[in-house]
Amino acid sequence: MSLYVLKFGGSSVATTTRIKHVVEIVASFMRQKHQVVVVTSAMQGVTNQLIELTETFSNSPINREYDAVISTGEQVAAGLLAMALNSEHIPAQSMTSWQIPIYVQGEHSDAGITRVYSEKILALLEKGIIPVITGFQGISENDDIYTIGRGGSDATACAVARAVNADECLIYTDVDGVYTADPRVVLHALRLDEVSYDDMIELASWGAKVLQTKSTQIAKDYDVKLRVLSSFADGGGTQITRSTKYTLQYDVAGIAHSMDYFAMHFEAENSKKFLQPFALMIRDYAEVMLIPKILQTEIQTIISDNGITAKIDNDIGIVTVVCKNPDFVSDIFARNGIYDKHEVKHTLIHEHSMTFIVPYQQTIPLVTTLHEHCITKRA
Ligand code: ADP
Ligand code: ASP
Ligand code: MG
Repeated sequence: MSLYVLKFGGSSVATTTRIKHVVEIVASFMRQKHQVVVVTSAMQGVTNQLIELTETFSNSPINREYDAVISTGEQVAAGLLAMALNSEHIPAQSMTSWQIPIYVQGEHSDAGITRVYSEKILALLEKGIIPVITGFQGISENDDIYTIGRGGSDATACAVARAVNADECLIYTDVDGVYTADPRVVLHALRLDEVSYDDMIELASWGAKVLQTKSTQIAKDYDVKLRVLSSFADGGGTQITRSTKYTLQYDVAGIAHSMDYFAMHFEAENSKKFLQPFALMIRDYAEVMLIPKILQTEIQTIISDNGITAKIDNDIGIVTVVCKNPDFVSDIFARNGIYDKHEVKHTLIHEHSMTFIVPYQQTIPLVTTLHEHCITKRA
């Protein structure tokens, strides 16, 4: 008998039909006499709807009540999923973060999990009841609800897996593993059997939302065995491993992209102090400061309230090649005239990745070109 944490993403619980399918997945683990803890996201689209609602009443909505509202989607999904399991005679009980409790620290909309109390989860398991835990949320020392960043249910799953000492944490989603690029963008992207924690963290932090960055970091820090697989199709998925070996030749793990940032440049360096509360969400380089679009209204308010002079560029997309040796990517760029063709605005070189900032409309074309040169032609 093993203990599994099964996390279901928004598309896996998007409809009551999908929820019934989740019940079948859970039932198959029960038939094999395993123990199961479930973590669920909100039904697909619900968190976005809730965010839109909060924008009705405030220009800078990210605060205590924002998190109170946007965390509710997970409670609906957990309750429905527990009901669905019970209706198939699989005893289950929903649990929200304050009932467990799951403690967090940090800013609203981007807190980090600091502690998951395992006692109540283990007590339910002991009684043969499946805990169905709300992802994406935690409580502070003051008992306020905080959310932990978009895609945060992945982090809840890893933190719960660590707390209950699970044998494995399985992230069920709508693709059958981690690919060399978003498979919805590059149709012939390759599925990886394995990817290292470090490469996955790099891919996720630059936009590969198949796993949230914080979740992989938790798994890496606490040796949580982590796998990504599909709730729509059978298959072994992708194992996230400690090994640093690359599955592909030429040491490229994959290509990530994000169209969710804007760029900003302050005339006076000391204006940056006003952004301190968001420091963890902002990428600040000598060439460019990259800020998530969800902070745009907030930041614009700060700029005008404090009379700051800033240049804002909304016309950007970000493409990152995660690889062992970034020089090899520069080479490919130079040899194929990619800088000009895709109108590269900035290049950022990191230890194991290289990032290109291009005009928004060039994002997908650049992902395709890079995949062709760095992966398809070499695989
Ligand atoms: P869930 O709701 O299950 O958490 P997400 O939408 O957060 O699902 O993540 C799954 C999506 O991640 C996929 O549908 C895919 O479009 C996207 N994705 C981005 N990069 C990758 C990648 N390298 N490999 C697989 N999927 C990726
Ligand atoms: N429901 C949240 C979101 O849409 C958390 C998650 O899906 O993991 O970001
Ligand atoms: Mg997700």
